Amino acid sequence: MPGPLAFHPSANIAELRESATIAVSQRAKALKAAGREVIDLGAGEPDFDTPEPIRTAAKLALDKGATRYTAVEGILPLREAIAAEANGHYKGEGKVTPADIVVSNGSKQSLFNACMVLFGPGDEVLVPTPSWTSYYEMVTLARATVVEVHGDPAKGFKVDPERLARHATPRTRGLMLNSPSNPTGSVYSPDELRAILDLAAERGWWVISDEIYVRIAYDAPAVGALDVAGRRDNLIVVNGVAKAYAMTGWRIGWTISAPAVAKAMNAFQSHTTSNAATVSQHAALAALTLGEPVEQAVRAMVAEFKARRDAALPILRASSALTVLQPAGAFYFYLKVPGTGADAGAAFCATLLEEHGVAIVPGSAFRTPDWVRISYAAERSQVVEACSRVARLADAMSAG
Ligand code: GLU
Repeated sequence: MPGPLAFHPSANIAELRESATIAVSQRAKALKAAGREVIDLGAGEPDFDTPEPIRTAAKLALDKGATRYTAVEGILPLREAIAAEANGHYKGEGKVTPADIVVSNGSKQSLFNACMVLFGPGDEVLVPTPSWTSYYEMVTLARATVVEVHGDPAKGFKVDPERLARHATPRTRGLMLNSPSNPTGSVYSPDELRAILDLAAERGWWVISDEIYVRIAYDAPAVGALDVAGRRDNLIVVNGVAKAYAMTGWRIGWTISAPAVAKAMNAFQSHTTSNAATVSQHAALAALTLGEPVEQAVRAMVAEFKARRDAALPILRASSALTVLQPAGAFYFYLKVPGTGADAGAAFCATLLEEHGVAIVPGSAFRTPDWVRISYAAERSQVVEACSRVARLADAMSAG
C-alpha cells in the first residue's frame, strides 16, 4: 500500500500567500478564545450592526421565498437600483444599464472576476503601492504580472499619470485603482482621478476602480470614476454594501462595466459560485432603496469613524518615532514604524500583539514592509487605547 498522499501545491497557487488582513484577525480571535485580552484593529470591518431597516427587509424577503437560485448576475431590481444610482452621477457616454452589472459574493469576488476575464499570461497590471493585499494575489492568480508603482509617502502614496507612465510598457494591460484607499486612507481629488483616467483611456488600459470606501470620506465627499469619466468602455467600477452599510457578512459586491465584460464575468461566475446569496441580494436592495432611514444610519456611522480618527490621530502624531499619514477616507491609519530591515513592520506588529495585546496588520501585506496599518473600525475607547500602546511601543523602540 502506498503511504498517505503528500500535498504539493499546484502551479496555480505556487506563489499564493494567505491574506494577511484575514490572518491577523483570525490570530486575534484565537488569542481571545484562549482567554487573552486583545484589541483587534486588524481586519477592516465596521463594528456596527447592519441597520435595522435592512435586517427587517431581509427577514421579510426570506418569508416571501427568497431562498432559491437567482440569475447568476443577480436579481433585476438590485441591478436596476445600482444602475439608477450610477446614472445619478455619471454624465458621460453610454448610460449604465442592468446588463452592465454583475452582482457577486462580495466585492472581493467582483475584483477577482474582473482580473480573471481581463488579464492573462504576458499582461502587466499596474498596482499603485501600497494597495490592498488581495490585488497582488488576484492579478497573479490570473497569471498576469504585477507592476508595483510606488507612490510618494509625502503625497499619501498617491500616484499620478507621470509615475504610472514611467512604469508602463507595451504589455501594460490594466490598472488597479482604489480611492479612498485601503491601506492609506488617501482620497484622489476629482482632477487627480480624471488625469489618471485620461491617461488610461489614451493608452487603452483597463481600469478596475475599487470604490468600496467611496461613501466613507471625512473632509470632502470622495468621487468615483463615474463622477469624472467622459466614457466608460475601459472602466470596471467595483462597489458593494460591506463597508458603508456595515454588511460585511452578507457578501454582496458588484461590477459596472461594458456589457461584453459583464457577459464574460457572468460566464466565469456561472462556473464558480453562481448567484450571490439570494437573501443577501434582497438586503442589498433594501440598503440602496430604503432611503432616509438607511441614509441616516450611514451618516451616523461615518460621523463616528471620523470622531475616532480625530480622537486617535493626535495620539499617534505625538510620537516622534512614527510617521503617520492623514487619512481622508476609509477607516485606516497607515504609519511608518521604527526599526530597519525588510521585516520592521512585521516585527513591530508581532511585539505589539504578543506583549501589548493589540492586533494590527504589517505593511508587508501592502508591499511596504516598514509600515503598518491600524483599522479604526472599532469602538472609540479601544481605538484610543490601542493607539496609545502603539505610540508607547514606538517611543520605547526608538529610545532603546
Ligand atoms: N478588506 C478588509 C481589510 O483589508 C477586510 C479583510 C479582507 O478581505 O482583506 O481588512
